Amino acid sequence: MIALKEILLQATREHWSTGHFNASESDHMRAIVEAAKEVGAPAIIGTSEGEAKHLGYLEAVALRDAFRAELGIPVFLNSDHHKSVEAAKIAIDAGYDSIHIDLSAQSFDENVRGTRDVVEYAKINHRYVANQHSNILQNVGMLSVEGELGYLRGDSKIQKEKIEIKPEDYTDPDQAADFVAKTGINRLAIAVGNIHGISLDEPNLDIDRIKKIREAIPENVALVLHAGSGIPDDQIKAAIAAGIANIHINTDIRVAYTEALRKELSKKPDETTPYRFDAAARDTLKNLIVEKLRLFGSGG
Ligand SMILES: [Zn+2]
Repeated sequence: MIALKEILLQATREHWSTGHFNASESDHMRAIVEAAKEVGAPAIIGTSEGEAKHLGYLEAVALRDAFRAELGIPVFLNSDHHKSVEAAKIAIDAGYDSIHIDLSAQSFDENVRGTRDVVEYAKINHRYVANQHSNILQNVGMLSVEGELGYLRGDSKIQKEKIEIKPEDYTDPDQAADFVAKTGINRLAIAVGNIHGISLDEPNLDIDRIKKIREAIPENVALVLHAGSGIPDDQIKAAIAAGIANIHINTDIRVAYTEALRKELSKKPDETTPYRFDAAARDTLKNLIVEKLRLFGSGG
């Protein structure tokens, strides 16, 4: 199977982006993989610490393997925003393909130290883990690790208050190069005017800063844009042209899924068979993801 690293390098070179979508139920995972299959894109499923605890780490890995076997497309599982080395290790041990260790709230030195620990642990442990829990063998070095530098405000919901981004929140290109060299990460999440959730006022991405960071780090380290929800399409396209190869969408799909589910439940107040009312929410989710993948140029 093709490694995520290879796909991200190709995306960087060809100026398109992969999409990363969050899941906390197998139904969400099905919507993501079916959307990816429909447009001919790789599927990247993320679980935050909270989402992974709800779904189960081993269960998420088993479902990933089942979807790979059923649909025959590349499906990757990422530990989105894991905020401690311990949490990241749980995901590695479970057999995740991809780790996002987010120590961006800590000092630069602490961030470097913890992120490097995760990179080293991933190298040593992945083959053993893959054999133990997964029926698809992966090679050592297949696992992709993402670090984060700069401060992303907000959380994955529709924001009720205006969120102010401070100058020191932004990722500095020179510091980014230093961080990549010291940690050995495969992907870098950056703060360039994006915030988590859907903000009250339109976000304004610093496209020039994305270009500068892209130029400052090696080509085989991919740039990741979190908080892709609520960013206008033209800014998304400009960010991809400037070098973003992976875009995270969470709030948009949470909102779309929940609204569709609520509508369906109120339409059928007497229905008690879950698959008769949650299938519509899954279809809504799938359609939204298809749309996003096409916007990212990920199709084909
Ligand atoms: Zn994020």
